[in-house]
Amino acid sequence: MAPSASLIPSPSRRRLALLTIAAAIAVALTVLAALLAASTASSFAAGVAAHAPFAPAEADGMIPAESPLTVDDERHPAMTGLDGELREALRSAQAAAADDGVVFDVTSGWRSADYQRWLLGDAIRTYGTEAIARQYVASPEGSSHVTGDAVDIGSLDAQLWLIEHGREWGLCQTYANERWHFEKATDAGGECPEPMADARG
Ligand SMILES: [Zn+2]
Repeated sequence: MAPSASLIPSPSRRRLALLTIAAAIAVALTVLAALLAASTASSFAAGVAAHAPFAPAEADGMIPAESPLTVDDERHPAMTGLDGELREALRSAQAAAADDGVVFDVTSGWRSADYQRWLLGDAIRTYGTEAIARQYVASPEGSSHVTGDAVDIGSLDAQLWLIEHGREWGLCQTYANERWHFEKATDAGGECPEPMADARG
């Protein structure tokens, strides 16, 4: 009895079967390669994220240089993170300063410890040594910005106004070398303490 044609694969059938297997292997390899690439890429991304340099954001209290805040700001973490008494004093003083045509432009207020650490690192790169940098930028542990107890005011007329009148609201320049830096350092109408020489104090 002659074997049926279907039991003995013809050369073209055999070729088709081989091609099918080859195609299946190719698909499997492609999927495997894609999976490997994806896992490599994601672990690479995770590695980069873990070592990415810190960049201060609004959530750290960073205020863009071109858009300082007013003391009435109710939204920005640099203002909302401030001590309540300091904010109140600033607002009362601003109301009086407005009569003299002076606007307090807040260039820095509350800062996260990460932001303060970044500022100190930046100052060390600028000044070359930590000893010199620390005269201008406090450590995260020592900064009154990190505790929400200090503001920096941008414009010279506002700085001078606060240096002259701030104590009526307890607002004082606390570092002799930082004309822009103010804290609630005494009671309203009290005497401001002698400013410390610099941020190392
Ligand atoms: Zn300051």
